[in-house]
Amino acid sequence: MTSILNRIGFNLHSRKAALSAISRSFSTFQKPNYAFAFDIDGVLIKGKHHIPEATRALKLLNGDNIHNRNIPFVLLTNGGGVTEEEKARQISKLVGIKIDPKQVVLSHSPMQNLATKYHDKRVLIVGGKGRNCYDVAKKYGFKEAVTPHDIMHWNSSVWPYSTPTSDLSILTSTAALNFPKLPIHAVMVFHDTYDWGRDLQIMLDVLCSQGGIMGTRKPDYTIQDVPLYWSNVNLSSHLNTDFPAPRLGQGAFKIALDSLYKTLTGSDLKSTSFGKPHGATYQFAEQVLELLEPQSQSSRRRVYAVGDNPAADIQGANGYGWTSVLVRTGVFTGKGNSDDFPADIVCENVEEAVLNIIDKEETHSNE
Ligand SMILES: [Mg+2]
Repeated sequence: MTSILNRIGFNLHSRKAALSAISRSFSTFQKPNYAFAFDIDGVLIKGKHHIPEATRALKLLNGDNIHNRNIPFVLLTNGGGVTEEEKARQISKLVGIKIDPKQVVLSHSPMQNLATKYHDKRVLIVGGKGRNCYDVAKKYGFKEAVTPHDIMHWNSSVWPYSTPTSDLSILTSTAALNFPKLPIHAVMVFHDTYDWGRDLQIMLDVLCSQGGIMGTRKPDYTIQDVPLYWSNVNLSSHLNTDFPAPRLGQGAFKIALDSLYKTLTGSDLKSTSFGKPHGATYQFAEQVLELLEPQSQSSRRRVYAVGDNPAADIQGANGYGWTSVLVRTGVFTGKGNSDDFPADIVCENVEEAVLNIIDKEETHSNE
């Protein structure tokens, strides 16, 4: 065989090159058994500005790499308060790469799985601006969603320290709902609240009520029959403000509610939390990756989680068994690795991370 190749002019170098090309083209037939999950703020964008390396990193994943491979990725953020479509539009505009809404996992995205249970049950949706979160909930399939605005519209003495909205377009129904006859079956916090006092009071009213009826009180506070769900428990807000110090977020609001419930009832308030670093969010992101790119291989897909926040991104990825990648373009700016939640890989920025991982994965798959 060697002599035949030699006779027809195939020297060692060209044979090696041919074999390498065959190997590369074979690998393009196989779907990649790895994927990426990017945090958004501090990795792809910073506030209202994009991080230049992010555009190049996403182009690499969309096939613009020496292996001509399309590598699946999702954006995984603790932000929210808008639909996945709106977030995809915002990020596409900032980064200059078209993002499909299916690739966006917001803090409240995994809560759409709860719609199977609550699709025809009245649920209280808390947080966000105007009726944005109500619109998100309706899109997820919560047909009977209501908001604190609806409760204030029904009876403004629920919270006498602020006035009901005069913007009737943000109500879910222009006619006042008769809450004494409408039990609330679950409370779901989709985003940071814009009115802490009102929402603390209304949530306590529902959680302390008998069977979710506003204005009643249950006889036994050790029993909690209205479940409570949080979309993330970050102490700091995701809102970008001009103030030089972080603002209180949903996690701070949770501490206030838990503390008040305990003080008022003597019992602990039970709840379920989503968002990073909670496992339910990672499980949901894997569902999304499977929909985007069904796995053709039996071995579990390797997911590289790229983030800037050790406590959320790195702790969550490590806990779920993904490979954690810490970048220095956001919260973390230290020289080495994080002391509290060390990452598997540390890179300067998202482009460096993507280049190194593609190189490692494709070299390995061609061996
Ligand atoms: Mg971040």
